[in-house]
Amino acid sequence: MSLGGKCSWILATKGYIPRMGETFITSRIYKGSSYGAHHPLAIPRVPVVTDLVQALGWLPNHQRRISPMAKPVALQRFHTAAYVAALQAAELAQFVSKDVRDRHGLGTLSNPVFPEMFRRPATAVGGGMLAAELVLHGGIAFNPGGGQHHGLADAASGFCYFNEPVLTIKHLLDHGFTRIAYVDLDAHHGDGVELAFANDPRVTMVSVHESKRWPFTGALNDDAGGVAWNLPVARGFADDGFDYVLDQLILPVIETFKPEAIFVQCGVDALAEDPLSRLVISNGCYPRAIAALRKITPRMIVSGGGGYNPWTVGRAWTLIWAEIAGYDIPDRLPLHAQAILKALSWNRRARPNPALFETLRDVRRPGGLTDDLRQDVAQLRGRL
Ligand SMILES: [Zn+2]
Repeated sequence: MSLGGKCSWILATKGYIPRMGETFITSRIYKGSSYGAHHPLAIPRVPVVTDLVQALGWLPNHQRRISPMAKPVALQRFHTAAYVAALQAAELAQFVSKDVRDRHGLGTLSNPVFPEMFRRPATAVGGGMLAAELVLHGGIAFNPGGGQHHGLADAASGFCYFNEPVLTIKHLLDHGFTRIAYVDLDAHHGDGVELAFANDPRVTMVSVHESKRWPFTGALNDDAGGVAWNLPVARGFADDGFDYVLDQLILPVIETFKPEAIFVQCGVDALAEDPLSRLVISNGCYPRAIAALRKITPRMIVSGGGGYNPWTVGRAWTLIWAEIAGYDIPDRLPLHAQAILKALSWNRRARPNPALFETLRDVRRPGGLTDDLRQDVAQLRGRL
């Protein structure tokens, strides 16, 4: 592995000396940016977790980095030049032709035209590439604005314009790593990442996602040429199921692979209160997974992903940062942190259970284990 061979586009320009440790990556681009009033991503997410960790005193300057915006040439490491140019042009014009919509999936209900439609996803990718460079010599970086796992080379898909996990993993590979693990905890299958790395033995992927849900890929038998481990789970999947899958499938697969770095996509739409899935886990599942996975590798990148209830997203990502950086979770949030959650509004539902304002950690939701889950995990373990 050669870490010095390939020039780093961020570090080279800023003269930054890499450091072991934990880093939280954020940007102001997310503040006030919305996919439109009726889109599930009308809600604030990165600004909420940034404000919360700041209010709790969990974001000292040495742990905070501002995400750069990835340049078109960096985005073309995965995306076509025509698509990158089309997205830039659409942002400028705030309009797409029928041809562009049909070819590149822009200007659709899922991937609408909005004011930051190029700069915001390019910033999410810049955050991922910065994360990759920060952990080259060890450490954990959290990029809650990343995790756009449905993005395709020539088209937007499933709210994703650029595929941040793919570009970030490619950035690690370009630095000479040869064994990268990708763990996808989002309620939806990470189809774009699987397409990008199918048949590539340098990457091993585990995706746990709700069955019979868009994008309807990631079947149990789909192994993408031996590099993917897909576990579709039934509605009602809760904490007992999650712990079982973590212990019996995710950890053994990743331990066997012996990765140099792990990318964990922490879409939090599998939480019980999320409107876009029927999975019902509690937010303690995410820090449990991160705590276990970090023992396997000296380098970890954690991204955001799905998550469409403003309260549960802000709480879960804050909990994840506390786990990464080692902060103690208070039983009750201080009032100034509660105020951040209380100030949020949502066009879908009435005000939520007050516990969502006053605490960070959910009560555990056991849920039990089904025979189907045990059998599916056993089938996948047969490949180990
Ligand atoms: Zn999702």
